[in-house]
Amino acid sequence: MNTELARELSSLREAGLYRIMRTIDSSPAKTITVNGESFLNLSSNNYLGLATHPRVKAAACAAIERYGTGGTSSRLVAGTLDLHVQLEEKLAALKRAEAALVFPSGFQTNTGILSTLLSEGDCLIMDRLNHASLWDGAKLSKARVFVYAHRDMSALEKVLQRTKHYRRKLIVTDSVFSMDGDCAPLMDIVSLAQRYGALTMIDEAHATGVFGEHGGGLAEQCGVEGKIDIVMGTLSKALGSQGAFVCGSKEFINYLVNRCRSFIYTTALSPASTGAALAALEVVRDEPNRRIKLLELSMRLRSALHTAGFDPLASQSQIVPCKVGPLNNTLKLSEYLFAHHIFAPAIRPPTVPEGECRLRFSLTSDHDENDVALLLNCIKNKGEEPHA
Ligand code: PMP
Repeated sequence: MNTELARELSSLREAGLYRIMRTIDSSPAKTITVNGESFLNLSSNNYLGLATHPRVKAAACAAIERYGTGGTSSRLVAGTLDLHVQLEEKLAALKRAEAALVFPSGFQTNTGILSTLLSEGDCLIMDRLNHASLWDGAKLSKARVFVYAHRDMSALEKVLQRTKHYRRKLIVTDSVFSMDGDCAPLMDIVSLAQRYGALTMIDEAHATGVFGEHGGGLAEQCGVEGKIDIVMGTLSKALGSQGAFVCGSKEFINYLVNRCRSFIYTTALSPASTGAALAALEVVRDEPNRRIKLLELSMRLRSALHTAGFDPLASQSQIVPCKVGPLNNTLKLSEYLFAHHIFAPAIRPPTVPEGECRLRFSLTSDHDENDVALLLNCIKNKGEEPHA
């Protein structure tokens, strides 16, 4: 077996698709250290800087002091912590939903929801650029999968016209797309779903805490809160913790508790993650300037990239791609930035389609104008080098 694996790995290497994990020896702040050297960090989803916020860290420590370190068992076996219940109540209130359920990861949440809710005879209608966890959930569900072109509402409508006869049909989309940073047209999706009798689900992993007047996400921003059947989000990005959640009707949440294998057969979210997420929600409420500043700075980075002749795609968020296209050029640009102490990963297939390689800059509210200027100078210099 090992020889076969080694052969596959070496062909990944030859194709420029081999992945390594760089070791970081600091917290995920805007400056990180790698092998003792400082780097400007443009890689983390710590959008509001809450993974290092004193209130959030103190809440994680307090939760450990009171409840210990481990989740210890499934919540259905060892019991649910009052802390889990408090977090679920707060999340349901933020998303204006009847109920919420937390999971140890977003990947599990998405695969669990889709495989629990849909089966043979149902259909799932997906944006082409949905997150990998939604695609894997689609496979597990055994539903018939229909794909529409990215954010293309006439393509979605055509699929809805062809799928009228299915027992249950669910439209699912990321709200903010993780590699393009653009936003799903939620109002249009909701109105098409209503017209054709489809259910809706959105993945607010990258929008929760960032979009909306109260940080409720893109659904809040678009005025469709309460009109989407299933809203999931993660605790691991803007909320600076770990884990994820889903919001929906009480019946739907009870159904998941009874039927969703990735909830039933997994250990509960740890006390530290639960406590941290609870405190993060308070910071989201009390410090709206973090998200305002973040989105303003993102706008400035996008327009600076544009002016300098780079392509930030259709980004509308704190995720700002810089499309390069060919794999080798993308890897070279990422390595050049690394050599100049800027940490920004190259995004390659299968994460993005072939020929659409890019750098993915993710900003946080701790970044400022100087960081944007530093990045722009560096990337422009590379562009001016011969054979760039
Ligand atoms: N949905 C989206 C859109 C994501 O980007 C991610 C992970 N980055 C997930 C779900 C999975 O969340 P988690 O990391 O908690 O497994």
